[in-house]
Amino acid sequence: MSACLFCRIIAHEIPASIVYEDDEVVAFNDINPQAPTHLLLVPRKHIPTLSDAEPGDAELLGTLLRRAAAIAKERGIEASGFRTVFNTNRDAGQTVFHIHLHLLGGRSLAWPPG
Ligand code: 5GP
Ligand code: ZN
Repeated sequence: MSACLFCRIIAHEIPASIVYEDDEVVAFNDINPQAPTHLLLVPRKHIPTLSDAEPGDAELLGTLLRRAAAIAKERGIEASGFRTVFNTNRDAGQTVFHIHLHLLGGRSLAWPPG
């Protein structure tokens, strides 16, 4: 059994509100949402941080981003706007070391982030 929280969610060993999955990507609601839409999109492949992504992962990263845009469109937040974020390591506040793309939207989001 994996020690990684998100690998365990991907394997359905830990419950999560999964909103999309295919053979490469799983998307689920963040347990502590910061906006009306706050999803996490993860690759099934365990990659700890964006810095660990290899050249062969480039298409997978693009797939995550394109899937986030597709979900935003489905939810009707494409025109109003949304944010996609990878937090990497301490200063960005990364707490789970399985790469995840935050998709936030449904309200006005401040910039710059804190
Ligand atoms: P990070 O700070 O690493 O960029 O984001 C980790 C995110 O995972 C946080 O927004 C946090 O709320 C979310 N999270 C942590 N544990 C769980 C969990 O068990 N289930 C779900 N659905 N989200 C989680
Ligand atoms: Zn993992």
